[in-house]
Amino acid sequence: MTFAGMNIAVLGAGVSGISVAQVLRRLGAHVILSDAKAVEKPEFAALRAAGVRLELGYQDESLLTGVDLLVLSPGVSIYNPLVEAAQVQGIPVMSEIEVAYRLCPAPIIAITGTNGKTTTTTLVGEMLKAAGREVVVGGNIGLALSQEVAGISEHGIVVAEISSFQLEGVVDFRPRIAAVLNLTPDHLDRHRSLDNYKAMKERIFRNQRPDDYLVLNYDDPLVRDMAERAPSQAVFFSRKARLSTGARLEDETIVMCWEGKTEAICPVKEMKLFGAHNIENALAASCVAFLAGADAGAIGAVLRTFMGVEHRIEPVAEIRGVRYYNDSKATNPESAIKALEAFDGHIILIAGGRDKKTDLTEFMELAKQKVDHLILLGEAKERFYQAAAAHGVTNIHLVDKFEDAVTLAYRLARPPQVVLLSPACASYDMFNNYEERGRVFKELVRQLK
Ligand code: ADP
Repeated sequence: MTFAGMNIAVLGAGVSGISVAQVLRRLGAHVILSDAKAVEKPEFAALRAAGVRLELGYQDESLLTGVDLLVLSPGVSIYNPLVEAAQVQGIPVMSEIEVAYRLCPAPIIAITGTNGKTTTTTLVGEMLKAAGREVVVGGNIGLALSQEVAGISEHGIVVAEISSFQLEGVVDFRPRIAAVLNLTPDHLDRHRSLDNYKAMKERIFRNQRPDDYLVLNYDDPLVRDMAERAPSQAVFFSRKARLSTGARLEDETIVMCWEGKTEAICPVKEMKLFGAHNIENALAASCVAFLAGADAGAIGAVLRTFMGVEHRIEPVAEIRGVRYYNDSKATNPESAIKALEAFDGHIILIAGGRDKKTDLTEFMELAKQKVDHLILLGEAKERFYQAAAAHGVTNIHLVDKFEDAVTLAYRLARPPQVVLLSPACASYDMFNNYEERGRVFKELVRQLK
């Protein structure tokens, strides 16, 4: 499909929608970019100048008049009424990553899962670069995939982070290597049930062929049984099982077992990333990179140096022997639990923000064991306070301002304690997004010095 000359409506004027509208316009399509919100964005001027028609503040069937193709950005659900209307009218519908796939001359590696996507995708990109490949990394990270693939040659390789939202509208999308990291209930508001969510994730391998690979987490039962439905060759990774093929641990070292040989990649204690969840991410990334042709040396070298992705248990500074970590990306209790598990206790935890009304039982049980002082703020602080007190957490402090949380942590902390921002909440009550929250935290910590 060339897209030139087609009349295309793009739904959703977020990062991906804007990108794909630009790309399609550049290819000579007549593009309408539609968003139900009537919010002007700085990027719109250039789009209009390039000839894209913007339709803001409404979304009804009139948009489909004369349209040959409907493209969905990840923010728009497949249950949007316009999607059904298009289907009734016989207008093809596809997601932004499907457009990217059709434009991409290089093979695609696609990584999905509930958690760990960005870390694993970034690791795979670094490993392939270390192995000397021409690589672009995209999808949920950085630019939209349709924008990223524009620059790659057929000899290169694309590593894409794929969310279940993007998988809703795939048609022919065929990654040569796909990976599913884990599957826990998340986004059920949009996917309506766990079965549905799982079915969406399985679309990542639906179009694969027998000589493609599907990398799966052996330790996650919902993911493991996807092998039964894969049209491609399933390869497992596991932190617990002694697999005969795939990536696993042997004497606390990550190894890759392949065609009867076992290759050592990196001892866990030499990895810069920490936490059990990151061992899983490292196993998954090693397996994917190996199958894509990277050698064990290049893979291991990256694991020995890679410090992690910003805002994910990111080391910020050490002040008077106390280490500070920014885990602003932990926007729900499950993620914050991973961070608490990554430390041996002695934690001064800063938590709270916009309350997602999530169950706090497990989080507070762990906090009771590992947290020396709990500093709470934001809209969630009262509910968190009640839950913490009910689970026997002691030393709970309520503060109003973000700065106050950081200075209080500084005043309380003595080695071997660590100060951890892992809010278990969204950031929107005080910040534009979790990235801003993390950056403000890092700035405040640096000022302590
Ligand atoms: P994603 O892109 O899927 O949101 P990230 O790599 O950005 O994942 O990690 C986000 C958070 O998810 C981390 O800070 C950590 O708390 C948690 N996490 C990361 N990897 C895993 C994993 N393999 N299993 C469970 N939780 C994880």
